[in-house]
Amino acid sequence: STFQELGLNDDLLQAITDLGFIKPSEVQEKAIPILLESETDLVALAQTGTGKTAAFGFPMLEKIDINSRTTQGLILSPTRELCLQITNEMKQYGKYCKGLNVVAIYGGSSISDQARDVKRGAQIVVATPGRMKDMISRRMVDISKIQYAVLDEADEMLNMGFKEDISDILSHTPEEKNTWLFSATMPREVAAIAKNYMHNPQEITV
Ligand code: AMP
Repeated sequence: STFQELGLNDDLLQAITDLGFIKPSEVQEKAIPILLESETDLVALAQTGTGKTAAFGFPMLEKIDINSRTTQGLILSPTRELCLQITNEMKQYGKYCKGLNVVAIYGGSSISDQARDVKRGAQIVVATPGRMKDMISRRMVDISKIQYAVLDEADEMLNMGFKEDISDILSHTPEEKNTWLFSATMPREVAAIAKNYMHNPQEITV
């Protein structure tokens, strides 16, 4: 299939052309129609390198209201490197989405700079759990209007001991949001997150 057939808008299709993506990867082909067509939770078993950032990123960019400055999308990832990589990809995918602001929140860098960037109005925040929790407790970021929450590399986040931070962060988000969980493996702990924080998730495996 083509990206056009998946139902993506012209701003995204133009960015995809610029990037030279010829056709959707398997995880994109499976996840994008589900996420575009329904308001649903999703559990996706997918390795890194499969194109999963775009699998959740395109639908998130399509669904958020760019005319609003409210933070509507939250992406949690295990490491600073991955956080920056996802942020960079989201900015490229959303380069024609006028007014889009994607902000990275991660440890080891100025918290006040990150708080300032968030205050300017970020529709999407990409964060590592520790720094995110810190900024929530200092009221530097408001995630009470989140509509889409992504847990990327959920197994890695749990391996790194972020279980409590994740549950603390999610407790500050609305009940009515959609949660999209991506993980390379599905150990008991990841299944427990899906069970405790998600409602009838659709499941895909690549
Ligand atoms: P990810 O698994 O999201 O880290 O993506 C791995 C790499 O594949 C990134 O550099 C993406 O820019 C690239 N990529 C994602 N989707 C596609 C696609 N449909 N066609 C070609 N490259 C892609």
